[in-house]
Amino acid sequence: MLSFSEKDPQFMPLYRSFHESMRNLFGCRVYKISVDAGFDCPNRDGTKSSGGCLFCDARGSSSRTHQEGTSLQEQILKNIAVRKQRYKGEKFIIYFQSFTNTYAPIEVLQEKYDTALKTHPDIVGISIATRPDCVDEEKLDLIASYQKTFPYVCIEYGLQTIHDTTLQKINRHENFSDFVHALELSKKRTISTCAHIIIGLPEEGRQEILETADAMAQYALDGVKIHVLVAMKNTPLADYYQQGLWKPLSFSASISLICDFIEHLPSECVIHRIAGNGHPQHLIAPLWMKEKKQEIIPEVIKEFTKRSTHQGSHCLFFTSL
Ligand code: SF4
Repeated sequence: MLSFSEKDPQFMPLYRSFHESMRNLFGCRVYKISVDAGFDCPNRDGTKSSGGCLFCDARGSSSRTHQEGTSLQEQILKNIAVRKQRYKGEKFIIYFQSFTNTYAPIEVLQEKYDTALKTHPDIVGISIATRPDCVDEEKLDLIASYQKTFPYVCIEYGLQTIHDTTLQKINRHENFSDFVHALELSKKRTISTCAHIIIGLPEEGRQEILETADAMAQYALDGVKIHVLVAMKNTPLADYYQQGLWKPLSFSASISLICDFIEHLPSECVIHRIAGNGHPQHLIAPLWMKEKKQEIIPEVIKEFTKRSTHQGSHCLFFTSL
């Protein structure tokens, strides 16, 4: 994949991909192993709300393996075996993906994280997806403690946008200030940070999206994950779509906005992922995501080439390129 490469000095980097950054760190192929540890979410269990975020499909925006009775160890061993055989993966990062993975008492968190990390000798790190309002000093101390044993420890915050009015519209029940506070606590402990961002949120245009990108640069996020908003079955967003209250982005608009977003990020920021999750069977809109999902990255590369730009080209903050 075209991205950052140190092998060819003439090679112009377009964006810093997660796989490339892991190869630089570990010198081999590293894959994330997604797990469902059976956590819930305060935005679904009635603590903050019972409806969930506008786009959340009640499976925690990912596969709900836990409900099928698969233990943490089984999930990890099975996924590692597949990654080794199919993709020649050598090292692995356990990715606590489903729902809110710091939403439990500290003893429960420690038991789950410890269990996962001990499952296989080729595990080199942990990445924990959560809501910014679900961390505190004690939980982050626990997460930071894994840095003594593992070279990669990351926390992935579901931010989506920096705009509080949008966060309110999507029923997020938290504010940008919650994210800033969680980020400060994480950075104080040198935990690697990643923010999940959504492009195509209701009533957000290019300006709002670029303001979010600029904030990521300003707050020096170590990484971002860029999603294009999709409506999945049984979500409030699917109802919005069917009532004509939300119009999904076209394929070409998505490519253009993804490139705009990445141009505003500093070159050091790792792009964990472009596009997003969601099983095609459950997709309601946009339907192009079914056939064209694999074309997103090649098209992003084409668009950068056409523009003669790359990650950091329009970054307002320090970039080493
Ligand atoms: S915070 Fe995550 S799991 Fe909870 S409702 Fe929102 S998208 Fe779903």
